Amino acid sequence: RKGNVIITGASSGLGLATAKALAETGQWNIIMACRNFLKAERAAKSVGIAKENYTVMHLDLASLDSVRQFVDNLRRQETPVDVLVCNAAVYQPTAKEPSFTAEGFELSVGTNHLGHFLLSRLLLDDLKQSDYPFKRLIIVGSITGNTNTLAGNVPPKANLGDLRGLVGGLNGLNSSSMIDGGDFDGAKAYKDSKVCNMLTMQEFHKRYHEESGITFASLYPGCIATTALFREHIPLFRLLFPPFQKYITKGYVSEEDAGKRLAQVVSDPSLTKSGVYWSWNKDSASFENQLSKEASDAEKARKLWEISEKLVGLE
Ligand code: NDP
Repeated sequence: RKGNVIITGASSGLGLATAKALAETGQWNIIMACRNFLKAERAAKSVGIAKENYTVMHLDLASLDSVRQFVDNLRRQETPVDVLVCNAAVYQPTAKEPSFTAEGFELSVGTNHLGHFLLSRLLLDDLKQSDYPFKRLIIVGSITGNTNTLAGNVPPKANLGDLRGLVGGLNGLNSSSMIDGGDFDGAKAYKDSKVCNMLTMQEFHKRYHEESGITFASLYPGCIATTALFREHIPLFRLLFPPFQKYITKGYVSEEDAGKRLAQVVSDPSLTKSGVYWSWNKDSASFENQLSKEASDAEKARKLWEISEKLVGLE
């Protein structure tokens, strides 16, 4: 049978390019898990994904009810889950004030981390039951959360501190809306959420790889400077960022090539190693990259896991 792969946020950018790359192999049924049904349908059509290779299902990661509903719907349809790709993200670099998810968590961490945390925890059982030759759970990371890189050192830097804001519920009322308890900063909240993504992947690996055989992986696909991720940035930034990445840092990658990279992590038989953060060199060859000190801190990963469980109601 074809493999079933769920891709969150497949209506745009990296997620859409990955769906396209996988669809072209004819080996995959792609479940596009998206908050905007019509946009996702149009996006699939616009890049020429054939009808028999995809389905769109509603998922709003900024609502834990929606996450649970999505999982219920999948199970009702008895769709086996072979690969889950946690790709969707919001980035609010110019927001002056925080916004919040349905449950009242700051939006970037609430969507990028907590929504995906609940989704992947719930679908772990489904992945375990899959009879596909390999099963994978992939959480898209980023260089910007890694302070051991040049890009990760552009302020404001990621820093989860002692997680006091997260412990307090990230609600901006009786706790800070930032994980480290500091003042709201949209760019930092995004970077913090990406550190959470990379820590979560490692904690999954530690807890479940051996018993389940599931491959847990993260990746930095390169700087895809043209995606809608930067939609809230000031116009001058959006004009200059792609050529800056292309010609100065040389970290630029097209949406199409980035999609092929993530598709590789989904389906390449040679990328079965678990607990890895993949990157690509300038010849587009994959290699196991090093995470920053904070993004590979085992104690922080455990703490993050436990607090996140409480926040999403898994305890
Ligand atoms: P896009 O903005 O193009 O895509 C983000 C996707 O996430 C969209 O499909 C969006 O849906 C979806 N999304 C946002 N909020 C929700 C929600 N509440 N529920 C469900 N889906 C949601 O950005 P990219 O393609 O660039 O980003 C994809 C991933 O790549 C992210 O994890 C990002 O951190 C990562 N990344 C990106 C880099 C880059 O340079 N662009 C570099 C490194 C990592 P909608 O279409 O409805 O808005």
